[in-house]
Amino acid sequence: MKIAIYPGSFDPVTTGHLNIIRRSAKIFDRLIVCVMVNAGKDPMFSLEERCEFLRRVTADIPNVEVDFSSDLLAEYARRKGSCVIVKGLRAGSDFENEFSMAMINHRINQSLDTMFLTAEHEFMYLSSSAVKELGSYHVDLSGLLPEQIIPDFEERIQSIQGGNRS
Ligand code: ADP
Repeated sequence: MKIAIYPGSFDPVTTGHLNIIRRSAKIFDRLIVCVMVNAGKDPMFSLEERCEFLRRVTADIPNVEVDFSSDLLAEYARRKGSCVIVKGLRAGSDFENEFSMAMINHRINQSLDTMFLTAEHEFMYLSSSAVKELGSYHVDLSGLLPEQIIPDFEERIQSIQGGNRS
């Protein structure tokens, strides 16, 4: 059975992420979408919320499961019996960073390879941080975030902005 891991921060999951998930789920027998705990980042949504959003938007894809981990990715993959990491590549910015991470992961775990799926045109410039920026100006997020999570996202933006108003 070919098991792949799709790691990220997913803060929150965007339609760009979901596009990569759907395409990789067709290639592999099992896809584990893993929310990586990154102490350096200050996320908008908790780990539990990010996992719950991912479960909600992937509920119709039977071979996808959602998990989280604070382990080194190469160790996590070994533990899960996976030898493939899936990454999405957007225009320009992702390449340098992803290339060096792929090399490091392979060095730590020789049986681990990274496969890149190029972002589709409409998602090429989409990132969670862009969505958060647009959301703070109340731009319509249809097409950028999965419909199922837009109300939760807008609610969070409102509560953050309400809290900052005092
Ligand atoms: P972001 O950069 O949006 O904060 P993550 O750190 O959660 O996203 O990214 C997880 C993975 O998803 C990375 O491999 C990243 O390159 C990929 N990815 C993010 N957004 C897109 C997109 N719009 N299209 C394709 N891949 C993407």
